[in-house]
Amino acid sequence: MTAALSKACLRPMTDAVATAPALPAGLLAALTDLLGPSGVITDPADLEPHLSDWRSLYKGRSPALLRPASTAELSAAMKLLFEAGVPVVPQGGNTSMVGGAMPDESGSQVILSLQRMNKVRDIDPVDMTMTVEAGLVLKTAQDIAAEQGCLFPLSLGAEGTATIGGVLATNAGGNTTVRYGNARELMLGLEVVLPDGQIINGLRRLRKDNTGLALRQLFVGAEGSLGIITAAVLRLFPQPRESAVAFCAVPDEDAALALFRRFRERDETAIRAFEYMSGTGIDLTLKHIEGAVLPIGERADHYVLVDLASSRPNAGLAEMLESVLEGAFEAGEVVDAAIAQSDAQRHAIWRLREEHPEAQRKEGASVKNDVSVPVSKVPELIRRASAACQALIPGTRPVPFGHLGDGNIHMNLEQPVGMDPAEFLARSHDIMDVVNDVVRELDGSFSAEHGIGRLKTDMLADWRGGAEYETMKRIKAALDPKGLMNPGKVFF
Ligand SMILES: Cc1cc2nc3c(=O)[nH]c(=O)nc-3n(C[C@H](O)[C@H](O)[C@H](O)COP(=O)(O)OP(=O)(O)OC[C@H]3O[C@@H](n4cnc5c(N)ncnc54)[C@H](O)[C@@H]3O)c2cc1C
Repeated sequence: MTAALSKACLRPMTDAVATAPALPAGLLAALTDLLGPSGVITDPADLEPHLSDWRSLYKGRSPALLRPASTAELSAAMKLLFEAGVPVVPQGGNTSMVGGAMPDESGSQVILSLQRMNKVRDIDPVDMTMTVEAGLVLKTAQDIAAEQGCLFPLSLGAEGTATIGGVLATNAGGNTTVRYGNARELMLGLEVVLPDGQIINGLRRLRKDNTGLALRQLFVGAEGSLGIITAAVLRLFPQPRESAVAFCAVPDEDAALALFRRFRERDETAIRAFEYMSGTGIDLTLKHIEGAVLPIGERADHYVLVDLASSRPNAGLAEMLESVLEGAFEAGEVVDAAIAQSDAQRHAIWRLREEHPEAQRKEGASVKNDVSVPVSKVPELIRRASAACQALIPGTRPVPFGHLGDGNIHMNLEQPVGMDPAEFLARSHDIMDVVNDVVRELDGSFSAEHGIGRLKTDMLADWRGGAEYETMKRIKAALDPKGLMNPGKVFF
């Protein structure tokens, strides 16, 4: 069945109108009294970077960006906004792939940034937890954990910009989900400011805490539609002592899955990441990314990146990697492979995977589908969705890549060579429809890790209709009775 999609949800960018409607009289002054001059930004030049999204899908307007410096300040500001009936759009690093952190074009929605709330409140290598404010950048959290000899394992391409609040609000996954789980599984406790300014202080660093409803989990993945995440207790892990990374050419999608199973059977706990890449994706990366080099002799149509890691001393990962690959060669599941011998080589292999989005951007227009299916169905997903898109628009270049070990493939499509990018993008929803038709038939999900944002609200209503969607809306109405939290996102 094809989802009934409104073309309006993937809008081309429009120019922002310079003057946005004023907020209710006296509100800006009251907010400035509360947050100080650096806590209320209204200068159009300073607002500009906050009004368009990473993918340039939307261009919004806003009368002000609020930057509270503490939970108490944020709570007081939210009370004022709630009383005045002003909608609020939380914005972290603004790396959302679905326009989740964009104000709409009305000019009535205030942007709330936690840029100034970026402290580490506590880090405890015995409890293996760190308590951090939501504005902390993900990469900084990783680095601070590492200074204490610990690992915060969440890792994704936007980690130098994305914030802890943002990755929790989107329940981000990323490269290491196959080993450590997604953001939800890395969070023990949460501090949240509700739409009316009340504070839920759930910053408990407990492994076991069955005390009523686990409210903290409601806000993870809610994309700012229920409240503002202000701080979190995150789980830490031992730093790996050893790692081993290989870049493999495989004959087809089935072989990629077979190789994953081979590693899982040998030692599931050693797999830190298992990523699939297509020949086209690597070709584009080699073409557009300076310094990118194919680490094996000949190009192939399918590749896999295997990353093993262990905190055990003398874990013998290099030997294990070689021996599993030898078995795979003999079975015809691998045709060529390069094993990194240094950190520089590990980095170079990972770069081939991480630069896929940038390479696609440089090549021309592309349509992104962040979908998941049961792991066993990944090969079928890639083959069927690619064929369906090529039948829809001849010459379309499928660029599937991503987290094979989680069943999560970024089923991206690059425009045909020579086609007008605008003409290709105008078919975005047709492409998403044919991909989603395959995903639905394979019992998958139309959004694996990027969330709903503004882009996929009608898909949520269509796919999660009936009691499931109604229950979500009841929870939304109970927590956000005035509908002020990130309006137009998640819910239709
Ligand atoms: C190059 C690139 C690679 C990426 N790779 C991955 C990947 O591998 N895996 C993956 O899962 N995602 C990936 N993403 C998308 C991912 O969603 C974001 O990178 C990240 O999770 C969002 O963090 P952010 O701070 O930028 O949030 P934003 O983009 O600012 O906001 C995202 C959503 O969270 C809400 N929000 C932000 N802060 C708060 C808060 N404090 N309280 C409540 N709501 C809040 C916003 O309103 C919005 O709805 C990638 C993005 C890019 C650009």
